[in-house]
Amino acid sequence: MSVNQPHEVDFHHEEHVLYPAHDDRTESKEFKEARHHLIVVLDTPCFICGVKHSEGARMESHHLFGEYSLSNALDIAKINADHPHFTPNNDLPITSVDSEGNQLSLCEWCHRGKPKYEALHHPRNKHKTAGVHELTFPIWIAQKYRLQGVDILVEAVDK
Ligand SMILES: [Zn+2]
Ligand SMILES: [Zn+2]
Repeated sequence: MSVNQPHEVDFHHEEHVLYPAHDDRTESKEFKEARHHLIVVLDTPCFICGVKHSEGARMESHHLFGEYSLSNALDIAKINADHPHFTPNNDLPITSVDSEGNQLSLCEWCHRGKPKYEALHHPRNKHKTAGVHELTFPIWIAQKYRLQGVDILVEAVDK
């Protein structure tokens, strides 16, 4: 295989995570209010593909700097030390994983869409994107900054 030609590379990513004990996840009032404010009131576009709630896109809110399940493993002060320098949606301080400053607006495909089968063939997914929970960060973020007309995801086939 020559890298001078388009070439497919299949990643088989595996990670082993030790989560500290945490309460069962329930959507907190803080999270619901932050999501509503970002998605409905501000109509913040999907960080990757740019679609909006007002355009009919099904929008979701991603815990950008820390998942709920890792809330007992994270030092919020460390996150705020880098914040708001990397803050796509807003410059609000992060007070908890559910606070608005920790939320990133994404459409359902750029959030949870899978790179194989359904996402690539979904009629609404004109940009052929896949979710932050399904890809490694370098590939996920490259979807936002790729050249027009260039697709970087290929349909997975069973081998
Ligand atoms: Zn999107
Ligand atoms: Zn998420």
